[in-house]
Amino acid sequence: MDITRLVRPAVRRLKAYEAREVPARVKLDANESPYGFALRSPLPATNRYPDPEARELRKRAAREFGVRRENVLVGNGSDELIYYLVTTFGGPVLYPTPTFVMYGAIARALGEETVEMPLSEDFDLDEPATRRAVRERKPRLSFLSTPNNPTGNCFSAGRVLSLIERAPGMVVVDEAYQPFSSERGFLPLLRDYPNLLILRTLSKVGLAALRVGFLVGSAEALEQVNKVRLPFNLSAPSQALAVEALGEKRARRAAVRSIVRERGRLMRELRRVPGVTAYPSEANFILFRVPGAGRVHKGLLKRGVLVRNMEGALPGCLRVTVGAPEENGAFLDALKETLR
Ligand code: PMP
Repeated sequence: MDITRLVRPAVRRLKAYEAREVPARVKLDANESPYGFALRSPLPATNRYPDPEARELRKRAAREFGVRRENVLVGNGSDELIYYLVTTFGGPVLYPTPTFVMYGAIARALGEETVEMPLSEDFDLDEPATRRAVRERKPRLSFLSTPNNPTGNCFSAGRVLSLIERAPGMVVVDEAYQPFSSERGFLPLLRDYPNLLILRTLSKVGLAALRVGFLVGSAEALEQVNKVRLPFNLSAPSQALAVEALGEKRARRAAVRSIVRERGRLMRELRRVPGVTAYPSEANFILFRVPGAGRVHKGLLKRGVLVRNMEGALPGCLRVTVGAPEENGAFLDALKETLR
C-alpha cells in the first residue's frame, strides 16, 4: 500500500525540518544560551493534567511584558504559537527572506499561500517591495523577525510600522532575540495597533529545553487564537520551571549582558580574520561571509566546532551563535586554523 497517496498534497510536498543533532564539542549552531539555570521547583504531581490556562505563568509573563494576563498566551515554544497563528488567521502569509524558516514551513504544512519578500542589500525591509506585496497580495498574516534570524539586524522601526499600518491583516513581530538588542522593541506599541501581535520566547535566554513561548497582544485577538490551542499544550514541569525562571531576573540579565559583551569581542576578532565579512548583530549570533563557506563549515566541524551553514539561503555565509568566552575562543582558533 502506498501510504504517500493518502497524504494531503500540501504535506506530501514537504520535507521534514532537519533538526539533526551532529555531536560536537562546541555547539554554536542553534542560537541557544551557553548559560543554563539550576532551577529548584519541585516537580508537580505526575497523575494530574497541567493547568490548561497556565494562569500562574501567564501572570508572571504579563508582569515581565508590562501587560495583563489576558494579553498573554503561552505555547510549547513560539514555534507552536506560529502554528496557531497560521491556523487562526490563514494566508496569504507574508514574510521577508531570508528569515526564520518556520513561517513558510508552517504556512505550507497548513496549505496556505505564502508571499516571500527578499530583503534589501543591507538586510532591511525593502519598502517599495513591501508596499507592492501588501497592495497586490493582501496578506492576512505577516511575520517579521526583528532582530532577524539569520541576518542578525533589526529592521528599521519606520518600515515595520509602515507595514503594520498598511497590512489588511495581522502583523506578528517575532522578538525571539529582543533581549540582546539595543532597540526598545514593539511591546510599547501594542496599544496603538490592534493588528499587532508580538512573539517572545524563553529559548534564547537559557531555557530552550522547557519549550516556552509567549504571544502578546490584544485580548480580542488572543481569544481567537486560543480557540485553536490544544488544551494542555504546556506541560506542568515546563509551567512550574518557567515561573521560577521568570523570577530569576538578575541571573537572566547577567547572562544576557555576558553574551552581548562576548558578541562585541567575537565581532571584532572575526573582522580581523582575512577574507571574513561579519555583519552587524543585535542578536545572540553573528552572520558572516567567508570564501569557501561549505568547506569552512566542514573544517570547523572536524575541529569540534558546529556552526550553522546558511549557504541555502545566503550563499557564502555561516551563522555562529555567541557562546561562553572559551567556546568563542575555540571557534575563532578553529576558524583561523581552517583558513590557514
Ligand atoms: N522565532 C525565531 C526568529 C527563531 O529564530 C526561533 C528559534 N530558532 C523561534 C522563533 C522558535 O523558538 P522556540 O524555541 O520558542 O520555538
